[in-house]
Amino acid sequence: MSAFLTLLFRNRLAALGAVVIMAILILVLNIPLLPLHDPDVTATADRFMRPFAEGHLLGTDHLGRDLLSRLLHGTRLSLAVGIAAALIAAAIGSAIGIFAGYFGGRTDNIVMRGVDMLMAFPYILLALAIVAALGPGLMNALIAVAAVNVPFFARNIRGITVGLAGREFVDAARLAGMGHTRIVLTELLPNVLPVIVIAMSTTVGWMILETAGLSFLGLGSQPPQADLGSMLGEARSAMISHPHTSIVPGLMIFLIVVSINLLGDGVRDALDPRLRSGALSRPRATTLVKRHGDVPPTTDDLLAIQDLHTEFHVGKRNLRAVDGVSLAVKPGECLGVIGESGSGKSVTALSVMGLVASPPGVITGGAVRFQGEDLIGAPYESLRQKRGDRVAYIFQDPLSTLHPLYRVGQQLAEAIRSHDSLSKAETRARAIELLNDVRIPNAKSRVDDYPHEMSGGMRQRVGIAMALANEPDVIIADEPTTALDVTVQAQILSLLDDLRRERGLAIIFITHDFGVVAQLCDRVAVMYAGRIVEEGPTQAVLDAPAHPYTKRLIACVPELGGGRRELAAIPGLPPVLDDLPSGCAFAPRCNKAAKSCRQGEIPLQGPALRTVRCLFPERTL
Ligand code: SF4
Repeated sequence: MSAFLTLLFRNRLAALGAVVIMAILILVLNIPLLPLHDPDVTATADRFMRPFAEGHLLGTDHLGRDLLSRLLHGTRLSLAVGIAAALIAAAIGSAIGIFAGYFGGRTDNIVMRGVDMLMAFPYILLALAIVAALGPGLMNALIAVAAVNVPFFARNIRGITVGLAGREFVDAARLAGMGHTRIVLTELLPNVLPVIVIAMSTTVGWMILETAGLSFLGLGSQPPQADLGSMLGEARSAMISHPHTSIVPGLMIFLIVVSINLLGDGVRDALDPRLRSGALSRPRATTLVKRHGDVPPTTDDLLAIQDLHTEFHVGKRNLRAVDGVSLAVKPGECLGVIGESGSGKSVTALSVMGLVASPPGVITGGAVRFQGEDLIGAPYESLRQKRGDRVAYIFQDPLSTLHPLYRVGQQLAEAIRSHDSLSKAETRARAIELLNDVRIPNAKSRVDDYPHEMSGGMRQRVGIAMALANEPDVIIADEPTTALDVTVQAQILSLLDDLRRERGLAIIFITHDFGVVAQLCDRVAVMYAGRIVEEGPTQAVLDAPAHPYTKRLIACVPELGGGRRELAAIPGLPPVLDDLPSGCAFAPRCNKAAKSCRQGEIPLQGPALRTVRCLFPERTL
């Protein structure tokens, strides 16, 4: 709740709306305590008194009734009716939407066609027709306003529910034997509730306006009862001669509607889970850089990461995702980066091209040199020209990286045209050539397929083709085979191996699988808690791991035909990144940990190309 309020009040307009509406609510809820005149007592001798007249702060109306008293009583009534109408419309509309969206098929068709028929009428005419049928009165106006807004909620919530009803967690609930009612109440409703709250917060103001409109026409509250609409209606004949009688309720309607809408927008933003981890702003085009001092170049490698520090600033927490990582690759070389989930592998890879989302990501130190040029803090245009052109990425899930509504040929063409001005025919020919390069059979016809018409392995090949589109010097592959079955994985690895040999590509291959590293990589760097803990030629590390963590990671890999042996899982969990223990971060999980391991900085040491960060390594390097 406190996180929600913090996010809500970070939006200044929402905070202003909240303050105004709270002030109005406090006033109208304390009417019995205020020294007000009776709102319905007429005094014809005091007609149309101007504001600040003695005894009448806002003046009087055409019957001499105190305007301040009528304003506060009328506001209370209008707010109550508007909020009640919003609650009723939200409850009925959401129930209809969830019912239609969850059951789908014919049920959905019948229910939603009924909703469509309601929506086909101009809503104000429908509201007038309902009040005409039921008779004038505030309660009937409330029913009419709620009824005309039911389709709005039904349509919105049905759309959300249709998407949720096909999701895996709902299937899992069905498989667990849950009934429809329980699935709706425990699986769907909690997911839909934020949307209902958001829709309500943005429509309350609108319903107050509609109720005021009906009262203005004499169909809502009846004399002498005051609400904001009826006050406006009664004042319209004196609009020119005594404008204050219209301005007072008009201004109150304006304040209520604007403040509720501002608050509603703030509630919508604060409830959006994607915005909770960062500020209420769009991510920057490149990662924010706040580093102190330059890092001098130390190698002439094609790509060199030097003492890189990347943090996530979430509220008061500073999560050190990458903590002084140094890596380098030469042309034609494949470097494996391995470690458990959360060890900082992907953040290191994304930091290279300034792709870590900011907020909350911040690069706080180090350098990334591509052909000698430091990319950290480089202008956006310079990074944009290199992204996909000189340094390309292959991501883990091809289905989420490919656009579902565009053919793969169009997406390849887009990747090519971002950096090359080829004609349409040349681009198509290049797209087909790329699909051939990644061994997609019948590339000429498959170029017109949509991503959903391809298998997972094919889609991943398209991802590789997109990465190759501009013949980059470096490819950063972030777990590109994790989601694939072993036969397709072997094909993709052999394809990447061929490509680097044919084209002299440098590859940084991020994985958590030592089997994959053994198959493809010349060298491997092992990461733990945002740091490199061991690095060396792949075979040397596999044959004789020096860091206890590396040894245990290798012991977790099952060996085909290796006989029966116990697969030793690593006990415990990786440390929390904003509360790293002093000394060795692996100490709480290490069976060799000594007192000295928990004190001071432990350097990465050893001969060139074979280093380890451990005081008591498994073997001397
Ligand atoms: S430094 Fe100590 S605790 Fe850390 S891995 Fe080495 S032996 Fe284990």
